[in-house]
Amino acid sequence: MTEISAQNRQPAKGTSSLAARVLELVASGEASSRAELAALLGAAPSTISLTVGQLVERGLIAEEGTQSSTGGRPRKVLRLGGTDEFAVAADLGGRHARIGVVSPGGRLDRVSTVPFVIADGPEEALPRLAETLEALAEERGRDRLCGVGLSLPGPVDIDSGAVVLPSRMPGWNRFPVAAWLEERFGVPAAVDNDANSMAMGEHTVRSAEHRQSIMVKIGSAIGAGVIVDGHLYRGATGAAGDITHIRIDGAADIPCSCGKTGCLETVASGAALVRILRERGVDVDSLEDVVRLVTDADPEATRAVRRAGEHLGQVLAANVNFFNPDAVYLGGILSTLEPFVAAVRSRLYDSCHPLVTEHLTIERASLGPDAGVVGAGQFALQRAIAHSLRNIGAERFSLPAHRTP
Ligand SMILES: [Zn+2]
Repeated sequence: MTEISAQNRQPAKGTSSLAARVLELVASGEASSRAELAALLGAAPSTISLTVGQLVERGLIAEEGTQSSTGGRPRKVLRLGGTDEFAVAADLGGRHARIGVVSPGGRLDRVSTVPFVIADGPEEALPRLAETLEALAEERGRDRLCGVGLSLPGPVDIDSGAVVLPSRMPGWNRFPVAAWLEERFGVPAAVDNDANSMAMGEHTVRSAEHRQSIMVKIGSAIGAGVIVDGHLYRGATGAAGDITHIRIDGAADIPCSCGKTGCLETVASGAALVRILRERGVDVDSLEDVVRLVTDADPEATRAVRRAGEHLGQVLAANVNFFNPDAVYLGGILSTLEPFVAAVRSRLYDSCHPLVTEHLTIERASLGPDAGVVGAGQFALQRAIAHSLRNIGAERFSLPAHRTP
């Protein structure tokens, strides 16, 4: 193992200096100016200026341009990273990977879809992917590559950077994906599941609008990622947002992949839709077939998709009532179907308290199929910064609040 991977598996929360808090607030979009930082941290403007100056000098924060306020004095805007550092990232599916270059703030370049067969297992599939990502990094300037991010279609143990008990990823169980990437690229790597990555991706580009959000990915399977106060919420054991195994009334005897029966997955996932339509004699082999039929306004398929949307909306309603987010984003292939989105939306409005839905945004993720790759890149950038802070010794930046330059 490299020195990077050994140290890097510790989460960044141990770094509790003023500099770390400044980075965190800028990274999450909670603060974008020195004045906002001073107000949020209750620190003297001179202290904030000194810390920001050191972080800018180190390339961890960039201060640029001006943001025209309403007639007021123009101000400098802070964002993460030096001006040209970047991460390469990939969002892995069953047969393809969406890859690209992600810059601080969520800008995505050189995005494309490449073949990637997850069933080949990590030892075969990862080296090929790494070659493609390496070529992207070379093209952009290899010396400015600061991280590698991967979004995986299965449960990920964040501390070990490995996939755990994936149901559709043969050969991947316990494979140390993050450590493998760090060894291969020599920079910090971040891996997370697809729903969390999509939640982070969409949040990154919309952090100014929405601070509390739920991202639901509805493809063959169902998953959700939760953003609380601008941060991804993982829960006690990393399972936060796992709504797919919530039981649905009226689906009691349908067996689920988890070994139980009647889960949301058995009536509302893409895989369930294929099964349901086949049982009704409709000629479909894949989720793509279902999407095609609904796009052609096939009544049977449209009805089934609408029903799936109602089931999802019902499960989401309980969570939305409880959590009171300001946005529910829908991603994955089913989110491209208007009858599905409309059914989720109407069930949420029907079942939630008006105070909860009054200003609630319910819509397809603005990043569409790129939310996962942007989120994976953003996780990698965050990890790179945490690593960088540890390397230079965070205490160097730990300035007592009363000290003035
Ligand atoms: Zn289940």
